[in-house]
Amino acid sequence: MSAPIREIGHWIDGKEVHGPVADTAPVGDTAPVTDPATGRVTGRVVLAGAADARVAIASAAAAFPAWRDLSLTRRTRILFRFRELLERRKPELARLITAEHGKVLADALGEISRGQEVVEFACGIPHLLKGSMTENASTGVDVCSIRQPLGPVAVVSPFNFPAMVPLWFFPLAIAAGNTVVLKPSEKDPSASIWLAELWAEAGLPDGVFAVLQGGRTAVDELLTHPDIRAVSFVGSTPVARYVYATASAHGKRVQALGGAKNHMLVLPDADLDATADAAVNAGFGSAGERCMAVSVVVAVGDVADRLVPRIAERAAAIRTGDGTRSCDMGPLVTAEHRDRVAAYVGSGELDGATVVLDGRRVRPDGAEGGFWLGPTLLDHVTPAMTVYTDEIFGPVLSVVRAGSFDEAMALINASPYGNGACVFTRDGGAARRFQNEVEAGMVGVNVPVPVPMAYYGFGGWKDSLFGDTHAHGTEGVHFFTRGKVVTSRWPEPVRGGLDLGFPENT
Ligand code: NAD
Repeated sequence: MSAPIREIGHWIDGKEVHGPVADTAPVGDTAPVTDPATGRVTGRVVLAGAADARVAIASAAAAFPAWRDLSLTRRTRILFRFRELLERRKPELARLITAEHGKVLADALGEISRGQEVVEFACGIPHLLKGSMTENASTGVDVCSIRQPLGPVAVVSPFNFPAMVPLWFFPLAIAAGNTVVLKPSEKDPSASIWLAELWAEAGLPDGVFAVLQGGRTAVDELLTHPDIRAVSFVGSTPVARYVYATASAHGKRVQALGGAKNHMLVLPDADLDATADAAVNAGFGSAGERCMAVSVVVAVGDVADRLVPRIAERAAAIRTGDGTRSCDMGPLVTAEHRDRVAAYVGSGELDGATVVLDGRRVRPDGAEGGFWLGPTLLDHVTPAMTVYTDEIFGPVLSVVRAGSFDEAMALINASPYGNGACVFTRDGGAARRFQNEVEAGMVGVNVPVPVPMAYYGFGGWKDSLFGDTHAHGTEGVHFFTRGKVVTSRWPEPVRGGLDLGFPENT
């Protein structure tokens, strides 16, 4: 007998709520949630209407004044408890992620750990919020700077990191004194409810963290509602562009992180075995459904002839299967996405690329109904092919050949995306030139997936990020706070007298 289908609700005012939450809302829609390793529908997620979204926003707005006024000591104690609970219970969360996203358990645990690092960074919020003070800036006048929270803020996240991407934002937003409405992906919505329960257990007051399930209707309400002060979005480039335009037109602060096409430049002097390992791990980890995945190897000179067989040998050894078992790579998130990625492989073949390894023929260790596609390696890809120009977001690694370092750099910098880029070489001068000239926000030197630590900012350039603030790090603290400068004078106990002139420093 198969397991019953769960209904995944919103989290509002400290509890999970199902169906329409506004009195005026019509009976709510739901969407299926599937286990990608079996193809079976395991749950149904409720989809908020605009009135439901307004209820979640009102709850976040009502919770804001008390939360912003709670002392930093008390706020950070809640964060520390949240961190301890997450550390202890993360295997539960990893299982939920694997069941709805498909990535292998070790990878799910890895994304939680990277998110947890942001919680640990946010535990230092008293230090991060410290302003500056100038005594006697003018005679008898002191000046100090302070940073204050914005109010209710929205986080809209993609399917590929159901825990880590929300964790890039909400720990800092909450630590800084804001309240948060998280709108996760409807494809894997359970992680967000689990995180909300953890906050409640850690002692976070009701309303400070809400989860609003849904699609575009819910997002549109968050982008336009006057009580939402800032929007942190992560997803595909067309939606990021729309989110940025809409929310900023409604007066909000926006950081909208978009899609990617990350290049790995390989110079002839690179250690080719280490480079092949790196290309395979970065290209096929999480089935290529990572915004920092390497999707293009740019091989300079004749290096491709020696590198491609090494990559092919390693990629062919990857065991594709059910992420809960002992395997290296799981299924893709939905059947539609798998078919879309497979169609790209077909178009690459038609356009003249060499299919060195064909994932469409993989025999997975898993159920027949799973959304399988094995590692795929395409050689002799050219910049004119759609497999090169489009973000595929699957286990497809393309190799492009370039005649020189300069030609390779010109190719990489012509990409509309600028999320990550890396170089593999033993030549320090070439690496230094790459780091200086490459147009990407996150750069690796002999490091294939250069995801910054929590105390640095995460974010790309060009069509990979709209807005000017990256996620987490001190940029994240700035994004979720606004500055105020206070100039004060405590006069001697004598009367200052009337003076209507513009204040001059004395
Ligand atoms: P997506 O753009 O389809 O969805 C992202 C979020 O936006 C989801 O919550 C979704 O419900 C919502 N959404 C979808 N269409 C919308 C619309 N028309 N209007 C308003 N909201 C809408 O992205 P996805 O498929 O869930 O995630 C994969 C994408 O995310 C890839 O392009 C990947 O590169 C990108 N991504 C980028 C980063 C980064 O740091 N730059 C990180 C992770 C993922």
